[in-house]
Amino acid sequence: MKIVNPATEEVIADIALADAAEVDRAVERARAAFRTWREISPGDRARLLRAFARQVEEHAEELAQLEITNSGHTVGNARWEAGNVRDVLHFYAGAPERNHGKQIPVPGGIDITFQEPLGVVGVIVPWNFPMVIMMWGVAPALAAGNTVIVKPAEWTPLTALRLAELALAAGFPEGVLQVLPGAGEVAGTRLVDHPGVAKIVFTGSTEVGKQIAAKAAGQVKRVTLELGGKSANIVFADSDLAKAAASAPMAVFDNSGQDCCARSRILVERSVYHEFLERLTVAVRELKVGDPRDPDTALGPLISAEHRERVASFVESPYFQGECPAGPGFWFPATVLTGDEDRAFREEVFGPVVSVVPFQDEADAIAIANDTPYGLSGSIWTRDVGRALRVARAVEAGNLSVNSHSSVRYWTPFGGFKQSGLGRELGPDALAAFTETKNVFIASES
Ligand code: NAD
Repeated sequence: MKIVNPATEEVIADIALADAAEVDRAVERARAAFRTWREISPGDRARLLRAFARQVEEHAEELAQLEITNSGHTVGNARWEAGNVRDVLHFYAGAPERNHGKQIPVPGGIDITFQEPLGVVGVIVPWNFPMVIMMWGVAPALAAGNTVIVKPAEWTPLTALRLAELALAAGFPEGVLQVLPGAGEVAGTRLVDHPGVAKIVFTGSTEVGKQIAAKAAGQVKRVTLELGGKSANIVFADSDLAKAAASAPMAVFDNSGQDCCARSRILVERSVYHEFLERLTVAVRELKVGDPRDPDTALGPLISAEHRERVASFVESPYFQGECPAGPGFWFPATVLTGDEDRAFREEVFGPVVSVVPFQDEADAIAIANDTPYGLSGSIWTRDVGRALRVARAVEAGNLSVNSHSSVRYWTPFGGFKQSGLGRELGPDALAAFTETKNVFIASES
């Protein structure tokens, strides 16, 4: 696979793709490693995760530069991502020693539970946030005592491969964390089908997620699914309109809109709709699209020519479109659409395209926000605390923010309602997704 810098179209690496037989060999290595990894004492496992975090810290700039080159991420984002990988490792380094069971009162003896690791976990990663999404699965899986095989996306394997090297440098035993670049239909499919893989953590499109869930059902294989989104940013007339409008563009255009949490539908109370649109346009006009290495750049390129073509197919008559470079690179301008009749309002675009529509009242806003098969994230802008709470409870989505657009913190749970996913990642309970509860009764009567 030729790996291309999306900002220059230069080939930066040539990566061999794993076939099904190679996946099988990796699963055998991971199963062998599981036998020893699960026996490593909680303190030693914690120390290894901390050593891995230190390796990431020492190589953070290298990882960030690699992500800029491979994925076109802006320098600010790429540095944040390397820091997030480090922090996620530190956070779950605290988990092995806290992976408690329970002692439950029963007559005639004692009843205790153990949180047992599952075995080999396959983590299938998309191209939009390669290193963070990989680590959200890898760190808690390893902490719980599982071994892991990562299949990065075809276009973006470089940071994943480097992270596997850093794990070895930190002292991880061979086979505990493996990264296998490969095609989804070949290596990804084999990981899902392999009876020796106990669980699949899949982040990617809802279409592929459904196929994986259907196949996994045949083996009752555990799955965590993090899928697509079409999230709403709901702006009420009583909100701080200047702040809501100024922050709305990057709530959808960050990472050039290639973000599952992108607030790609902005719903605005009708009485302030035109004022909001004017303010939004001013803010979008100021966004610089270009060289991701420049700290002033807000939007880098899209990931590939193919993806740019797909994004472009959603745009017919934009209300406003910014500027972007013309030369080599997969550039696409920040684009504002109005109206709810087109495909862009219903489907996930995964590019810098936002639809802005008016709503009548609170009930109307909730109805529009929920009129989608997705349910990943969203924002609510209002100064009325009661309304903020009512709307936050009524919107069918896993991650909501009020008067802000934050959604992912490694110490709080993350995941989707409806067709945006199944299960939760991150947060204090992530180990539950990588363990089985075993119940043991011990009779005390002789
Ligand atoms: P994709 O579904 O095409 O691919 C994701 C991964 O699955 C890749 O590694 C791919 O090689 C692999 N794959 C493809 N077909 C497969 C198959 N049949 N069996 C096993 N593996 C297979 O998604 P993408 O285009 O890489 O990523 C974009 C999508 O990911 C968007 O829909 C986006 O919303 C979603 N996403 C969701 C989250 C979340 O947390 N909810 C986060 C990031 C991205």
